[in-house]
Amino acid sequence: MSEAKVFDATAATELVKELRGTFASGRTRSYEWRVSQLESILKLSADHEEEISDAIHSDLSKPALESIIHEIGMVKNSCKLALKELRRWMTPEKVQTTITTFPSSAEIVPEPLGVVLIISPWNYPFFLSLDPVVGAIAAGNAVVLKPSEISPTTSSLVAKLLVKYLDTSAVKVVEGAVPETNALLEQKWDKIFYTGNGRVGRIVMAAAAKHLTPVVLELGGKSPVVVDSKINLQVACRRIIAGKWGGNNGQACVSPDYIITTKEVAPKLVESLKQELERFYGKNPLESKDLSRIVNANHFDRLTKLLDDDKVSGKIVLGGEKDKSKLQIAPTLLLDVPRDSLIMTEEIFGPLLPIITVDKLEDCFEIVNSVPKPLAAYLFTSNKNLKEQFVACISAGAVVINDTTLHLAVSTLPFGGVGESGMGAYHGKFSFDAFSHKKAVLYRSFAGDVAMRYPPYTPGKLRFL
Ligand code: NAD
Repeated sequence: MSEAKVFDATAATELVKELRGTFASGRTRSYEWRVSQLESILKLSADHEEEISDAIHSDLSKPALESIIHEIGMVKNSCKLALKELRRWMTPEKVQTTITTFPSSAEIVPEPLGVVLIISPWNYPFFLSLDPVVGAIAAGNAVVLKPSEISPTTSSLVAKLLVKYLDTSAVKVVEGAVPETNALLEQKWDKIFYTGNGRVGRIVMAAAAKHLTPVVLELGGKSPVVVDSKINLQVACRRIIAGKWGGNNGQACVSPDYIITTKEVAPKLVESLKQELERFYGKNPLESKDLSRIVNANHFDRLTKLLDDDKVSGKIVLGGEKDKSKLQIAPTLLLDVPRDSLIMTEEIFGPLLPIITVDKLEDCFEIVNSVPKPLAAYLFTSNKNLKEQFVACISAGAVVINDTTLHLAVSTLPFGGVGESGMGAYHGKFSFDAFSHKKAVLYRSFAGDVAMRYPPYTPGKLRFL
């Protein structure tokens, strides 16, 4: 615990009180304070790259390259972008006024919300902790970060580094699990930014509702990959593999969750996936150093249950090997799974990839639209009409054509879900906006005072309308 031995409701109240004092002092609002904190996060990320990557490895056996690119590199990029753009983001936006208010001028002034709570998950324990903090600080807020107890080494390193590098009167880390999170959730915040599963998302939203606190919920879901014929299948398979197993071994929110393809394409697709998987991870993937492990025994058992479901018995066409002592599961492909099997009704969040086959690819619309809206939807095709139809008819947090997960790296795109995959968005300027209030400001002079506006509302006044 970084702040106190027992972090209970009293400690949480004290913490928020201190941060409210800091925020009220105006300290976090200045451009200079924001810049100094963002520079410190950038420095912290550069100074401790190896230590951070080792901590993530200890929590997840995540390959160092994945941590450096997907976690530390992403945080650095966010800081660099915020440092470059902050002046512009903070500048009020002049907007037009109407004849009704003539003469007048108007602007939208972004203002910090106040004291915000960020609750992060275990799967990208550095990136998903620090990236929202970058947005909160850029927008001028005081922040409490609650990292996940399921990635304890990264959680304690983040707590240690933030105390060392950042202004501790405005940025706090509270480590802990459900009791500590509940103590925090009882407090009144100006925004709660939660990343994790939808069950806890509902708990967060219910707690926030008591104080009318707005929330951003970055949740998950089943992100489909639709694979058409007449495409460069090898490139498609490599990109599916990179998004699935190359993203924390399937333990990523935007990980491809299942594939839909035609009966005709399926055998070629399976063959190509097998070849590329072997090329990347060898004949015995349980030995590969390039795959993360399953985070803990609970998640290992959860994934085992998906494979043990009678409804998918005999459907494994590749993989299925497991080693509980090392918490490893090989990349596993299942072909022709029924839509009511467990693996097709729960978010997989692991190295299993079921394939559904259809008579014609257009059947994908009914399948994807009959389940909760996913965080991402992917389509591999060369068919222009299909691309257009997919973008128009599939509701998802994001749609990517001919690749998977890469939209995450495009900071000009908002990152967030829709429906059960979440609400609100961040990344780039959207992070600044997520932690700002857009204040409407109208400037009037004493000129142009129209009598018609005031009582008595005589019939003659109506004639001017
Ligand atoms: P997790 O178990 O680490 O939980 C997330 C946070 O919620 C942790 O800080 C944890 O302490 C807290 N928490 C857990 N139970 C709680 C409770 N009962 N009350 C209050 N707080 C509680 O992570 P997870 O939920 O297993 O993460 C995986 C899920 O998150 C997946 O569904 C995934 O799709 C989603 N996810 C979404 C994104 C995104 O950006 N949209 C990113 C990563 C993960």
